Amino acid sequence: MTELKVLIERDAIAKRVAEMGADITRDYAGQQVILVGVLKGSAIFLADLSRQLKLDATFDFIGVSSYGNRPSPTQELKSGWDSTGEVKLTKDVDQSMKDKNVIVVEDILDTGLTLTVLKKLLLAHQPRSLKIAALLDKPSRRKLPLQGDYVGFTIPDEFVVGYGLDYAERYRNLPDICVVPRESHG
Ligand code: 5GP
Repeated sequence: MTELKVLIERDAIAKRVAEMGADITRDYAGQQVILVGVLKGSAIFLADLSRQLKLDATFDFIGVSSYGNRPSPTQELKSGWDSTGEVKLTKDVDQSMKDKNVIVVEDILDTGLTLTVLKKLLLAHQPRSLKIAALLDKPSRRKLPLQGDYVGFTIPDEFVVGYGLDYAERYRNLPDICVVPRESHG
């Protein structure tokens, strides 16, 4: 069993998500928003963030995976996701985003590849506005110039799990965000 180290405790997550909710509520006061969750990692963050919004909000979901060259989980842990990989859409949004206020809800901003592709795809809908809410940000890993509009925590270059984030589909249900020690694998 892999030994996990807690990086961000559940209370700190809840406090920060409430602050992000307050910021979004203030910025969109009196307007409608569509929260577009990126499957599957953002599910828990979206559930908590949305309940902090005092706004008229609806949900949609989009699914992505990388073409072929995403490494095995062990390799991913060692050297990260190959940023040259292409992003494949596995589930499109269900509704038109035209003239809507769209907030993409993502678990973590890493190389920036996923959100660069998703942004382009969603901008083609001609939304009224498009912003990114990311719980975590690893700016040291960025390969493409992309910034979150609402960011929960900036973290070092570690592989993290919990609060929706997985390692080979496991650990998504952990209430805290934890680091998987690199030396414990491969
Ligand atoms: P990007 O396209 O920005 O490189 O990667 C974003 C995606 O990579 C995230 O949505 C997530 O699926 C995955 N990812 C990046 N870093 C981590 C990490 O530390 N832990 C986990 N579980 N997934 C990560």
